[in-house]
Amino acid sequence: MDRQQQFVLRTLEERDIRFVRLWFTDVLGTLKSVSVAPAELEAAFEEGIGFDGSAIEGFARVYESDMVAMPDPTTFQVFPFEGGASGESARMFCDILMPDGSPSWADPRHVLRRVLSRAAEKGFTFYTHPEIEFFLFNDLPDDGSVPSPVDSGGYFDNTTHAAARDFRRQAVLALERIGISVEFSHHEVAPGQQEIDLRYADALTTADNVMTFRHVVKEVALGQGVHASFMPKPFSDQPGSGMHTHLSLFEGERNVFHDPSDPMKLSKTARSFIAGLLTHAREFTAVTNQWVNSYKRLFPQHVENRITESPAYVCWGHSNRSALVRVPAYGKPNSARVEIRSPDTACNPYLAFAVLLSAGLRGIEEGYELPPGAEDDVWGLSDAERRAMGYAALPQNLAEAIEVMAGSEFVAETLGEHVFDFFLANKRAEWEEYRRQVTPYERQRYLGML
Ligand code: GLU
Ligand code: MG
Ligand code: MG
Repeated sequence: MDRQQQFVLRTLEERDIRFVRLWFTDVLGTLKSVSVAPAELEAAFEEGIGFDGSAIEGFARVYESDMVAMPDPTTFQVFPFEGGASGESARMFCDILMPDGSPSWADPRHVLRRVLSRAAEKGFTFYTHPEIEFFLFNDLPDDGSVPSPVDSGGYFDNTTHAAARDFRRQAVLALERIGISVEFSHHEVAPGQQEIDLRYADALTTADNVMTFRHVVKEVALGQGVHASFMPKPFSDQPGSGMHTHLSLFEGERNVFHDPSDPMKLSKTARSFIAGLLTHAREFTAVTNQWVNSYKRLFPQHVENRITESPAYVCWGHSNRSALVRVPAYGKPNSARVEIRSPDTACNPYLAFAVLLSAGLRGIEEGYELPPGAEDDVWGLSDAERRAMGYAALPQNLAEAIEVMAGSEFVAETLGEHVFDFFLANKRAEWEEYRRQVTPYERQRYLGML
C-alpha cells in the first residue's frame, strides 16, 4: 500500500468515519456513488470494487458488463458536514478499469487523463477555472410548469433575499471546508440565479471539483429548504446558466500564454491555442453543450434592457463579451488566460475540458494561425457582416451539433471511439424524443391562427 492509501485508512480510523463514498461519473456527467465500509477499503485499493457497467449510462454492453472502480486516494476528502456515525463521511473519486486492470475507454476521467498526458508530453500542465452559474428555486415542479426563483435579485445584488444571500455564504463555506477554493461568488442577472467561481487548478482536479460542487450546492440548498438546478435555460425570458471556463497552460511555474513583448501580451502558443479552439468549436459544441435545452441559451436574447451574454458566433476578442473566446485583461504574467464562454453548467466537465484542451493542442501542434480579433459587438452585426468577417455560427440546436460532431475526426480521436459512438447514439435519441413533442408554444400560436 502506498503512503496516500495508508493516510486514507489512518484518517478513517482516527476520525471514526463509518462510510466512504466512492464516486465516479457516467458519460453524460451524472455522479455515481457506492458506499463502502472502511474495513473493505484495503481490499478496494488492491482490487477495486466490481460493479455492473451495463447499468451505467454509456459504460458497457450487457455481455461484457463487469467493470471495476479503483479509488484514487489523492482525491480523498472528509465531508465534515455530512452524516455518518460521527457526523462525518468521506469520499474518493475512482478510475474505472476493465476486469484485466486496463483503463476503461468509457471513463470520462480516463478521456481527460489521455489528453492531459498529451499536453504533459509537450511539458504543459493545463489549468482551468470555471465560473459556475445556476438557479435556486423554491420548488422543482416535474409537470413542466415554470419554477419559482427564491429571489427577485439581479446582477451583484446584495440583500434582495435573505435565503439566497445566506445560501452563497453557506455554500462557499462548505466548499472551502472540503478543500475547494472559491474566488468569487455573487448574484447573477436573473431572479434566483447565482454564480460561484472556483479558483484555478489543474484540469483533472477542477473537473472533480465541478462534480463535487454540484453535489454540495444541491445539498446546501436542500438544507435551506430550496432547490438548486444546473439546467442551462429554465426560463424563456431570462438569461441561462453558463460555465465560462478560463484556460491556461503552464510549463513548470511559467505561464506560457504570456509574452511581455506582444502588444496584447499574448504568446504565439496562446494564439495557436485560441485558433485551435475556434477551428474546432463547432465540432465540440455537442460536448460542451450536450442537452436539447443547452441551445435555448446559446444565442443572444434581449431581456428587459439588456442582452443575455451567451456566445453564438465563432470568434475571439480582447475583453469582448460577445465573442466565443475572450482574452481578459490581466496583471501578473501568470494570470494570462483565455475564457471560453460557450460551455454550460450541465456539461460533463471531464469531457468538456478534454475537448477544449485537445482543440488548443491541435492549434499548437498544427501551428494554426489566429484570425484577427473581433473588436465590435458581434451580436449587433448583420448576418452578411458576420459572414464577411468569417464568423461561423455555433450549432443552433442539438441536432445540428450532433451532426457536426459526427463528422469530426478531431472529436472522435479526443473522446475515443467508445464514448464518441455512445454519445452520438444517446444524443440522437434525445433529439428524436424532443422532436416529436408538440409544445404549448405551438398550440398557442397556431391552433387559432391556422
Ligand atoms: N449567464 C450568461 C451566460 O449564459 C453569462 C453572464 C456573464 O457574463 O457572466 O453565459
Ligand atoms: Mg456570470
Ligand atoms: Mg465570465
